[in-house]
Amino acid sequence: MGTASEPTGGATALAQIADEVRVCTRCPLAANRTHAVPGEGNVVSDVLFVGEGPGAREDSTGRPFVGPAGQLLDELLHAIGWERGDVFITNVVKCRPPGNRDPEPDEAAACSGYLERQQDALDPAVVVTLGRHSLQRYLPGARIGAVHGQLRRSFSGQHVFPMYHPAAALHQASLRETLFRDMRGLPSALLAARDALGDERTTAVQAELVAAPVIDPDAGADDAEQMTFF
Ligand code: URA
Ligand code: SF4
Repeated sequence: MGTASEPTGGATALAQIADEVRVCTRCPLAANRTHAVPGEGNVVSDVLFVGEGPGAREDSTGRPFVGPAGQLLDELLHAIGWERGDVFITNVVKCRPPGNRDPEPDEAAACSGYLERQQDALDPAVVVTLGRHSLQRYLPGARIGAVHGQLRRSFSGQHVFPMYHPAAALHQASLRETLFRDMRGLPSALLAARDALGDERTTAVQAELVAAPVIDPDAGADDAEQMTFF
């Protein structure tokens, strides 16, 4: 843990990863890209959004979620009083698949080390997956229709909050309301994740300090009252 205590270390690592991504040639997607899109946002955020891959506008600007799907993502964040600068946003693959096709498994595999390192550097309390590809990476076999809007834990223990991809709502209007409803559940999911992580830390500390004379039974209880998210 420790983003709060080591913001500079996380920021340095994220900048280093971005530099590597911009010149990466590990998979065939490098050949057709204009710009790789490493991701961007608040380097001490507790929330990491993971989309699928850059589209046309992302490819031409080098920035994530700046096209139509990105506009909807901005609206969704505003609906809960958040800004994109409050969170960190990236994708499963950092280079645009031609014609916006799905990323191939070998492309996602080639790129996965970058996302893994971004996650390690940020150490978010919650990863919000946008769409199926991102969901599969964290909760293999999970069905988006069954798990969207619910806080889950990945095999590695990461708290995950699955959402539909905003682009899906641009094609299927009925998903728009679902996306907004799910997004409105994110702040409390974040608090729940923080509570769980706080309890686990407290338990670990107590296990180490069994001989300590005083253990504050209320340690961590103020998390529930904390209304500042970042
Ligand atoms: N769709 C994505 O999955 N990611 C982006 O960055 C933009 C659109
Ligand atoms: Fe490298 Fe990922 Fe881009 Fe492939 S998609 S070239 S692995 S940065």
